[in-house]
Amino acid sequence: MDYSKFIVDKIKRMGESQTIAISEKAKQLKKQGVDVISFATGEPDFDTPDNIKEKAIASIRAGHTKYTAVAGIDELKAAVCAKLKRDNHLDYTPDQVLVSCGAKHTMYNISQVLFDAGDEVIIFAPYWVTYPAQVQLAGAVPVFIDTTKSSDLTLSGDDLQNAITDRTKAIILCSPSNPSGKVYRQKELEIVARSAIENDLIIIADEIYEKLVFDDFKFLSIAALGEDVKERTITVNGVAKAFAMTGWRIGYAAGPRQIIDAMRKIQGQATSNPNSIAQHAAVEALLEGSASTERMRKEFQRRRDVMVESLNAIEGFSCRKPEGAFYAFPRVSPLYSRAFGDRIIKNSVDLCSYLLDEAHAALVPGAAFGCDEYVRLSFATDLESIKTGLERIKQAVEKLNA
Ligand SMILES: *Cc1c(COP(=O)(O)O)cnc(C)c1O
Repeated sequence: MDYSKFIVDKIKRMGESQTIAISEKAKQLKKQGVDVISFATGEPDFDTPDNIKEKAIASIRAGHTKYTAVAGIDELKAAVCAKLKRDNHLDYTPDQVLVSCGAKHTMYNISQVLFDAGDEVIIFAPYWVTYPAQVQLAGAVPVFIDTTKSSDLTLSGDDLQNAITDRTKAIILCSPSNPSGKVYRQKELEIVARSAIENDLIIIADEIYEKLVFDDFKFLSIAALGEDVKERTITVNGVAKAFAMTGWRIGYAAGPRQIIDAMRKIQGQATSNPNSIAQHAAVEALLEGSASTERMRKEFQRRRDVMVESLNAIEGFSCRKPEGAFYAFPRVSPLYSRAFGDRIIKNSVDLCSYLLDEAHAALVPGAAFGCDEYVRLSFATDLESIKTGLERIKQAVEKLNA
């Protein structure tokens, strides 16, 4: 029986996540015994810190195993407020906070509450694949601004102004960025803020990689630019990336109470509260997790340095040094039109599939992030694998004839 007639069009139109598709293929090869090095993963390779695990175990024993308030337990909302004050100089009250099942779920709630047919939402490319998918699922139209015109991925005020129409409702900002590792400077944030104020738009600031910023770079929350920006910003964050807690599924939003209330309403009918045990563990992470995060950050920085240097030693690759997150995003288009036998590399998907077959290295094609001239490599993997994998990639690229 063909069930497709039962499945609604908006789901059939949805693309599969290409990042997941490549990791699946890499996993399959691994299962067959092939020694694949994966640069495709989007999560820290570290274990969740012990104090956080212990807090979860203790909370099970203490009986915190029942439904909680839809928006999250009071302790966690208070911890979120304390964290936003401590790290981001942002004053929020607990009724301006909603805890959800991961920051992805937070973003989903936001798009369901704010976007409707005909609305336009500005997204900077390269972008996290989930943003356009969620905007479209809400019936709205993602409007992309290509930031790769600038080698430093700088946001341009003119490009932003040109993209805004009277249907524009919001701007989605991801800093530090997945996939590029770009962290926006104050000047760039001010461009976005000014535009949002002048055009009466909402800013959605995805700050999930905030803690993973390198060298002396200072992360700045856009909402901290001023009360006039904060009142139209929803700050999104979570525990997944900073505390190696991807599987625990806790994310949160802080923003205007009316919007947070609307998000709570849909969450109340869709999932109810996020996992009660993970909520207690997240309190520990936010209040007592910073030493663990700092250890991981330092290790990520060491790996970044090795990876970026090795990438730039490969002919045809050029990689800017990411200021944050755990991804390198080299430009590889000079290799396009090169060939291996009768296999011609025409785009980022071709290159990644060649490198998976020939170097047994899994990379994610830039096309998945709206930038086909690039590929993404995660450095959330150990240094040894990074060294070996990049050597293999180098050799495979050298086999391509001009
Ligand atoms: C990983 C990630 C998230 C959300 O992660 P959750 O596990 O859902 O909390 C959000 N935004 C970006 C850009 C990410 O890479």
